[in-house]
Amino acid sequence: RPRVLSGIQPTAGSFHLGNYLGAVRQWVDLQDTHDAFYAVVDLHAITIPQDPKELRASTRLAAAQLLAAGLDPERCTLFVQSHVPEHTQLAWVMNCLTGFGEASRMTQFKDKSARQGAEATTVGLFTYPVLQVADILLYQADSVPVGEDQRQHIELTRDVAERFNSRYGHTFTVPSAFILKETAKIYDLQDPTVKMSKSAASPKGVVSLLDEPKASAKKIKSAVTDTGTEIRYDEKEKPGVSNLLVIYSTLTGTGIPELEQQYAGKGYGALKTDLAEVVAAWVTPFRERTQEYLDDPETLDSVLARGAEKAREVASRTLAAAYEKVGFVPAK
Ligand code: ATP
Ligand code: MG
Repeated sequence: RPRVLSGIQPTAGSFHLGNYLGAVRQWVDLQDTHDAFYAVVDLHAITIPQDPKELRASTRLAAAQLLAAGLDPERCTLFVQSHVPEHTQLAWVMNCLTGFGEASRMTQFKDKSARQGAEATTVGLFTYPVLQVADILLYQADSVPVGEDQRQHIELTRDVAERFNSRYGHTFTVPSAFILKETAKIYDLQDPTVKMSKSAASPKGVVSLLDEPKASAKKIKSAVTDTGTEIRYDEKEKPGVSNLLVIYSTLTGTGIPELEQQYAGKGYGALKTDLAEVVAAWVTPFRERTQEYLDDPETLDSVLARGAEKAREVASRTLAAAYEKVGFVPAK
């Protein structure tokens, strides 16, 4: 079976619709066809300041949401990144294979550091993509299911893997990004030119899956739409409406052309009201399931412990091979 690896940050507590439609939904499907490894990437979360208590809670909350979304520990390996020390160990080697200029070109770093200001920006935020390189290569992943915003980091992973392989001999599978075109980028409801994001400046355009359905309905109803009245998919002329159509279509399985037909002659208000209901119908059982997993922390922690054990079996083998290739003397 081909292998997949992906991760999600435990920041902000709740996942948002972009995380689900862009990534997690694919993770659920890939369990049936792939040897799947999924991580709550807490090491990545501390690239921006985190309150320790909140981080601990949001890490368990992230795992609970992944289970609620349909990850099944019998069919995939679900673990917490910091439970597998090989990630940071391999990251160091990868840091020493990544060009400073190469890392400086990462647009997510440029965006996030610009938002934070130079003084508040850490070296961790800068080398975050290199830790991600290690995350992926440790599992010899063939493909990495992510949103469009991660494409550049997967390209970096490929480049570094190829560099390692050509310098030291074949060691790592060179992975491909797995990005579904329709849901590659879900946009912020208040600004349909930027992606919906956990670290958005304002929560107003972000549909968090753990929000009260009423709060989500309010956000959807006040979504920025476009001039005109026609409900039609057109990324350029109608980015706001197109984003709503994509969300509607993927949550219900109704094709966009059918939706366009269904809403012919109707206004934006009708689309928004119905979409609010569609979202409520999806999040209501999701929120309940998440709460059930949270109510049983012992089971949750034991799922994560077993996941870490399974992950380490693979990760430790890869790390040992990489260390050997680099020329480190094995500790006996
Ligand atoms: P941040 O903005 O702080 O980086 P995030 O919202 O991007 O947070 P992550 O945990 O970094 O959340 O991403 C988890 C997964 O969700 C990644 O695969 C990412 O590509 C995907 N993703 C995030 N936002 C979107 C979006 N708006 N549309 C599609 N996929 C997304
Ligand atoms: Mg992100």
